[in-house]
Amino acid sequence: MKKKITVLPGDGIGPEVVQSAVNVLDTVADQFGHEFEYSYAKIGGVAIDEENSPLPSETVRVCKESDGILLGAVGGPKWDTLPGDMRPEKGLLGIRKELNLFANLRPVTAFDSLIEASTLRKEVVKGVDLMILRELTSGLYFGEPKERREENGEQVVVDTLYYKRSEIERIIKQAFELARVRRKKVTSVDKANVLESSRVWREVAEEVGKQYPDIELEHMLVDNAAMQLIRDPKQFDVLVTENMFGDILSDEASMLTGSLGMLPSASIGSTGPGLYEPVHGSAPDIAGQGKANPLATIASVAMMLKYSFGLSKEAEVVDKAVSTVLEQGYRTGDIAAEGETTLSTTEMTEKVIAAMTNQAKVTN
Ligand code: NAD
Repeated sequence: MKKKITVLPGDGIGPEVVQSAVNVLDTVADQFGHEFEYSYAKIGGVAIDEENSPLPSETVRVCKESDGILLGAVGGPKWDTLPGDMRPEKGLLGIRKELNLFANLRPVTAFDSLIEASTLRKEVVKGVDLMILRELTSGLYFGEPKERREENGEQVVVDTLYYKRSEIERIIKQAFELARVRRKKVTSVDKANVLESSRVWREVAEEVGKQYPDIELEHMLVDNAAMQLIRDPKQFDVLVTENMFGDILSDEASMLTGSLGMLPSASIGSTGPGLYEPVHGSAPDIAGQGKANPLATIASVAMMLKYSFGLSKEAEVVDKAVSTVLEQGYRTGDIAAEGETTLSTTEMTEKVIAAMTNQAKVTN
């Protein structure tokens, strides 16, 4: 298989973790006889510095021509004081919108070998395997008007929670499709006791659910969902929700596993390339020191192999290699317990590649 991959390293630790993921992709290509062709482009702070825009048009063009996009992270203190339109995050929001990436998938898996890293009790976290599906291109973050204005001599401020029925429908459908290949349960999260948009969301979920009689559908209010995620996260399989609710719940869920450095994500649309990136940011505090945990970015390319290229076997090899290195006790600083030896970004990557090579030897 021949695939074109756009690589957007971005800022801070972005370039370091992206290099690790590219090395892993090269190993997959070697092992399975695929050909991955990489095009590098700029996004975020580095693009502001060099092209005076967080999302240069050339970057959008290269992304649109590819089969999958790998992103590191954007942002850092250097750009924190720039005006809104010139902020690195604008690059990220912009590329999601340009490519119509309406579904953000965040798997949260508790690795047995890292269970001690969670702030929650072992028995609560052990066995957690859930997927948060967040609507990404509409809702409260994009609705208009979004403004400050004056009313009767006083400042008022408005944000708008706007959804087209079709936008709700496609994300809910995606949730059911995902549940079908998982444990067959969808939890649709809303605030239907207060918000009209949520009442329509619930109606659409019911309607779409009728097309999936094999999947269990439950509705949950967002405040309860926030509580249940901490109380009993194992009850969830696929959790689907509006843009802002998803933003908050997915960060909350990420802490179940104990480290940001372990969490991959995918943003996909109906057609065109998907965008794959770690959940963490650019970690300016450790950038350039070789300390970054590359596993979230490596797990993100496993998602690319599975969801954009349909290469499930290859994705499994990568995921299994990540579990193996953790079981073998290898740790980067962010997931090490006190007194444990820590590996650098490149050393950890080499361990993952060695585990992939060992798997290939065993199967051959
Ligand atoms: P962050 O995720 O960058 O870092 C939070 C903490 O986690 C830091 O202590 C960092 O060292 C640690 N950490 C994160 N990833 C790690 C990894 N792979 N290995 C080891 N440790 C890791 O969040 P922040 O500090 O709030 O934000 C820093 C910058 O990143 C900001 O400019 C923010 O806007 C940006 N950001 C970008 C994205 C993105 O590009 N998707 C997401 C979140 C934040």
